[in-house]
Amino acid sequence: MTSHENEDERVVQVLAQLASSGHRITNPRRHIVAALVAAGGHMTAEEVAVAVQAHDPSVHLATVYRTLETLERSGVVIHIHLGHGRAIYHLADSSHYHLYCQVCGSVQEIPQAALDNLFATVARSYDFEPSLGHFAILGTCGHCMARSGSKGRNSGGTSPESIA
Ligand SMILES: [Zn+2]
Ligand SMILES: [Zn+2]
Ligand SMILES: [Zn+2]
Repeated sequence: MTSHENEDERVVQVLAQLASSGHRITNPRRHIVAALVAAGGHMTAEEVAVAVQAHDPSVHLATVYRTLETLERSGVVIHIHLGHGRAIYHLADSSHYHLYCQVCGSVQEIPQAALDNLFATVARSYDFEPSLGHFAILGTCGHCMARSGSKGRNSGGTSPESIA
């Protein structure tokens, strides 16, 4: 089986979920789901628009925004904020957390289970259930730490050396 067949199956699955929540399968909806499946990861709304317009140039950016909203409301797509303002979209069936490097902009996915202990500690000690899915965890990736020689000094702030 080729990966393209897998992609088609996934698109059919997601569209079925959309239909079962009472939404019509319009062309923009079909194209956007296909673009997100084909990308296999994260896309900004602008990147989705470029991918969709390769198939159907009549789909405008405004339609893409509106359609992404509809897809989110029906639960098949989610968005996450990486840093200041910039949101990325992906299919809701692959949920994970995001590590966003503030130096190089790389995004790493980590399974939600990786933070189970942290969540349990916060819930137990502070009677508070954290919700991290909507925002990426900001920091510095290993590659950038090695380059700036600031390994082990990552206090969460931006060190001047890491910019130089
Ligand atoms: Zn993601
Ligand atoms: Zn948001
Ligand atoms: Zn980095």
